[in-house]
Amino acid sequence: MSRYNSVLDAIGNTPLIRLHKASEATGCEIYGKAEFLNPGQSVKDRAGLFIIRDAEEKGLLEPGGIIVEGTAGNTGIGLSLVADALGYRTVIVIPETQSEEKKDALRLMGAELIEVPAVPYKNPNNYVKVSGRLAEQLARTHPQGAIWANQFDNLANRDGHVVTTAEEIWHGTGGEIDGFICAVGTGGTLAGTAMGLKRRSGQIKFGIADPMGAALYSYYTTGEFKSEGSSITEGIGQGRITANLEGFEPDFAYQIPDDEALRIVFDLITEEGLCLGGSSGINIAGAIRMAKEMGPGHTIVTILCDYGNRYQSKMFNPAFLRDKGLPVPQWIERTPQFDV
Ligand code: PMP
Repeated sequence: MSRYNSVLDAIGNTPLIRLHKASEATGCEIYGKAEFLNPGQSVKDRAGLFIIRDAEEKGLLEPGGIIVEGTAGNTGIGLSLVADALGYRTVIVIPETQSEEKKDALRLMGAELIEVPAVPYKNPNNYVKVSGRLAEQLARTHPQGAIWANQFDNLANRDGHVVTTAEEIWHGTGGEIDGFICAVGTGGTLAGTAMGLKRRSGQIKFGIADPMGAALYSYYTTGEFKSEGSSITEGIGQGRITANLEGFEPDFAYQIPDDEALRIVFDLITEEGLCLGGSSGINIAGAIRMAKEMGPGHTIVTILCDYGNRYQSKMFNPAFLRDKGLPVPQWIERTPQFDV
């Protein structure tokens, strides 16, 4: 067993889990990196740690200082746990449409939560822009100062994946990896992991799995930002090239409808004991499509971003699913079969 100095040492070094049905359906080896095993239960603990460490190294944070961020939830949870462990405070701006479970987790971690209406990025009241303005204000007025984590355009986010996620995948696969694919929120995971893996081998192919309603699939396939449809998936779906995405060029791009991703998530629970959030379903659907395009015999890695309990009131709620016209898995509504 390992002995850690603090919970921060438990961030990263997550295992690769073989996805059996996906592998068998494609003749490839498809692995998911189990980021839900991080202490904050998502891949965003890494960004939280690297953004705060970077600010400390630049001398931007004093004890008791405030970290302000606009987030769909997981980055806020990661930042809050790191901030708690290191003696900082967090103020989190979140679109009110995000799941109550994530909001509760943020409150539980001691974050100050500010809910704002979900409006597009170009609107000055978008959560990211509100958080930027609030950080500026608090930097002037709070005695211990404040910083804006700015995960979308702060390259410390991507750097964390270059030095940890990519290296872990390289060593975890023994260098036997042919492809990596995932969805984009900030792009830190995709572009950072790609950058790190490219340093190890020029042979690895990279893919982006975009949800409906995002504009990157269109951008990478036609050069134009166009979005079509919508998705219930939280934490992903981007309409611009963030600083973290700059320089990244995918070899494969897919747009994944929610029902394709949800069927994968539902089957993984009952068939493989893996209970994941919606973005993991988008990622695995992308990995399956990429495996089919590359052909049998390849090893492809994707990200299992967070745990399903974060979405119990939404994508695991029959009423919510029916309302959205999405498939409802039979087992969710099963009545007990055994009398007592
Ligand atoms: N999945 C979930 C559930 C997330 O919260 C996020 C981050 N917002 C992502 C995927 C995407 O990660 P990244 O920001 O590194 O692109």
